[in-house]
Amino acid sequence: MRIEADFECGNAIVEQVSDTEAVINIRPDSNAQYFQWFHFRVTGEAGKLRTFTLANAKVASYPHAWNGYRALASYNGTDWFRVQTCYTEGKLTIRHRATQTSTTYTFFVPYFEAQREQLLDDCAKAGERRLIVNTPNNRPVEMIVFGNPNAKRKAWVIARQHAGEPMAEYCIDGLMRRLADGQDELVKQLFEADIAFFCIPNVNPDGSAFGNLRANAAGIDLNRDWKQGVEPKSVEVGAILRVMEAEGVDFFYDIHGDEASQYVWLVQPHAELIVEDNKPLQEGMETFVRERYAEYGPDPIYDIPANENDPLPKPADTGMAIDYVAWRFKCPSLIVELPFKDTIGADTTIDSLLAAGCEAFGRDSVEMIAEVLLGK
Ligand SMILES: [Zn+2]
Repeated sequence: MRIEADFECGNAIVEQVSDTEAVINIRPDSNAQYFQWFHFRVTGEAGKLRTFTLANAKVASYPHAWNGYRALASYNGTDWFRVQTCYTEGKLTIRHRATQTSTTYTFFVPYFEAQREQLLDDCAKAGERRLIVNTPNNRPVEMIVFGNPNAKRKAWVIARQHAGEPMAEYCIDGLMRRLADGQDELVKQLFEADIAFFCIPNVNPDGSAFGNLRANAAGIDLNRDWKQGVEPKSVEVGAILRVMEAEGVDFFYDIHGDEASQYVWLVQPHAELIVEDNKPLQEGMETFVRERYAEYGPDPIYDIPANENDPLPKPADTGMAIDYVAWRFKCPSLIVELPFKDTIGADTTIDSLLAAGCEAFGRDSVEMIAEVLLGK
């Protein structure tokens, strides 16, 4: 067989390969030590049982997250299915008998630059497309402004600060396409209430294209680069913050993926940063997701073992965007974490939060945001 990963969002270093067995290492992020994202294409005779061993899984960023995880595969890049995967003795082993000659294996359904371009192009018909900054590797970080750009209140939605979390981009894709729908009654109400939406589908396009898990090209974890009173180290966060300062922020929603949990969960800003008036609004968003989604689960932070490679910092100044925004703009601020693992939906749909499920979650998120901003 032949294994390739030298393409957009590819990540696999092939150490050994025969016709049926391969030993692969996951490449660390550019200029950083994070890794977990993998994505590679295998070509070979159909019908053979093949084994792919990810040898360095034990020293990935979230090794405990491999437990209960199943890799995704596709023959056509559109239809994805789970394949037999097990994590034992520090190695992740994927076994699959492909029925076709070319198969892609991945950590999660990828979201490519071409999809982003199509989204921005489609949404530019309803909103205003703006360039925020070109990255050091000359990829644009772009935004669509929906509604009156000079509206009284401005809701910001960003996705994919972490490069290898494509579910976040599927989610914001669904959300943005709903905002672009001129016939949607709720969206009309939001615009009539003088609320505009500033949406950035991918904050970290370099990292996404490289097949990184978290970092940008310079090795910076963007969601630890929002330090209170400190100039951001990254070009991407620095540029977004300047636009936020110029425009104002009245609501902030940051979309992520979570490696470990098999459910959707929300990250609230650090409690001491939430101003009194916003406490019921923050709680309301938790209630919205809990009541609507069978896939909802509570914040698992305290279940994570203390010896993790990337422990969440405890003080209020975490460098996370939600904390920074809650501190600086005193507005409601929230992270949603969508799972890499297979979920079970309310109608017992298995794997209910693959690409289409994440898009639907994004469309529904408009309702959650409307509850906060319209006071319903
Ligand atoms: Zn993330």
